[in-house]
Amino acid sequence: MTLELRGQQEAGQYVNGEKEVSEPNPLQSLAVLLVDDQPANLLALEVVLLPLQVPLVRAASGREALKRMAEQQFSCILLDVVMPGMDGFETALQVRETPLNRLTPIIFLTAADLEQDTVIKAYAQGAVDFVKKPFVPEIIRSKTKVFIDLHRQALKLVEMAAESAAQEGRERLSLLFENVQNISIFNVSPHGKILDWNVGAERIFGWPANEAVGKHAGFLYTENEVQLGFPEKYLREAKLHGRLQTEEWRWRKDGSRFWADVAITALKDMNGAFRGYAYIIRDATFRRLAEEKVAAARDEALKASKAKSAFLANMSHELRTPLNAILGYSELVYEELEADGDEHTLEDISRIRLSANHLLALVNDILDLSKIEAGKLEMQIEEFVLAQAIGDVVETARPIITRNENALEIEHGDPTIKITSDRTRLCQIIYNLLSNAAKFTTRGVVKLKWTAHSTADDGWMELTVSDTGIGIDAGHLEMIFEKFHQVPHKIGKHLEGTGLGLAINKLLCDHLGGTISVASESGKGSSFTVKLPLHISDPLGSKTRPKAELAES
Ligand code: ADP
Repeated sequence: MTLELRGQQEAGQYVNGEKEVSEPNPLQSLAVLLVDDQPANLLALEVVLLPLQVPLVRAASGREALKRMAEQQFSCILLDVVMPGMDGFETALQVRETPLNRLTPIIFLTAADLEQDTVIKAYAQGAVDFVKKPFVPEIIRSKTKVFIDLHRQALKLVEMAAESAAQEGRERLSLLFENVQNISIFNVSPHGKILDWNVGAERIFGWPANEAVGKHAGFLYTENEVQLGFPEKYLREAKLHGRLQTEEWRWRKDGSRFWADVAITALKDMNGAFRGYAYIIRDATFRRLAEEKVAAARDEALKASKAKSAFLANMSHELRTPLNAILGYSELVYEELEADGDEHTLEDISRIRLSANHLLALVNDILDLSKIEAGKLEMQIEEFVLAQAIGDVVETARPIITRNENALEIEHGDPTIKITSDRTRLCQIIYNLLSNAAKFTTRGVVKLKWTAHSTADDGWMELTVSDTGIGIDAGHLEMIFEKFHQVPHKIGKHLEGTGLGLAINKLLCDHLGGTISVASESGKGSSFTVKLPLHISDPLGSKTRPKAELAES
């Protein structure tokens, strides 16, 4: 099978999408330039050289001669030596600077015998011959003819070399395309007739070349597709835009299907006239199946994760009711025992209350997390005075901070500044940071510092909770905001906790449009910084709803 390489033939005309500058007309480059300031001499030269049947170009001065030489190539230059302004020798010198005529032979026309020195200088400047005026017509004609013939032969050689290089390139490409096994390549006429069919096409479609070539490209499409206007729709698109790329199922001769990566390119000839189309089709079934598997696995995982979150949300909701009952009743029993002065049982009841409270905190954390993950976290956005909200949290957290003999330091920001955000969630974030600082610091300092800057439509608050506690190993810092991650601290006592607080903080900060970060050094202390916008307009993935409704959940 011979594959016509239309695309490749065309490609030669274009470089980076630009049309290449056209080759010089070979006959024009056989032209002879005649340079003399005397019109009579120019006319005489023309008459003498006319029988050579090559274009003759006149120039009346050295300057004009250089202009002509910049425009086109000559096979030979006849140059008068004595001219006003730029003489022949000077002109010859400059000829060597012109890209087109750098190597063009020059015949000097002289009126008198030249000194030997002058002749040597002229040869050095590129003269190849001298003719003395008044010249003998036959001599000057035959000398000029020699150079024209030489030039003609040189041109022929260049042409032959270019042609053989092009032919070699064509053959190499043809060989390559014919032998490409994994890519189907075929050309289609402007009317959709298949013109050739490579080995790759035979392998991928299962049709041998002799059964495919000559048929309309529609034979590769189903009856239904043909009725819907394929492949013409594709061909029209390719013709309009130069190229069409698509992926779709295609059918083999044996009826099996494969996922095809199809590229159709419109082809044009040297003159830009439309010549047909080139189809390049790859079998991408393997990739497609792999992608489908990944997508299915992802869907499955997402479904499972959603189901898990929903289950956790329901479970924690259900657990809270009996837990609250346990807490309520133990509270009652505690009060009664306290009144009776039964110290021994009081201790047991205290343990029940402590454990029940811990369990409730855990259940609340799980409920929060699963709500956020299930995309069910609902925010209540309102405007409030930041200093007030922070002051409230600090007072709630004060007892747990001082319990470990810690000093609490506060550095307040602007007391009047207002924030539009979710107050409950913001307080939850701060309380969690303060209770962690309290938990991991003994006889140290827990410090809360906040600032806020407001502009007309923008503004940020920055709050840092730092402590002088046990700190966090550098190796754990990156994972500190992941669910259930707890640093194995070597402090010899068990510290309560779920490893969920910081994960929830991170998700809440995201929802409030801000960030949370940590800096810590083992043994020296930790510092957590929260940055939040002062005006949250559209909290991430959440809806606002009335406070009453939120309180019920
Ligand atoms: P937990 O309920 O365990 O405190 P968190 O998510 O709030 O869960 O914290 C995760 C882990 O990060 C903690 O178990 C602790 O190891 C470490 N951590 C958090 N805050 C501090 C802190 N201020 N100092 C030292 N370690 C901390």
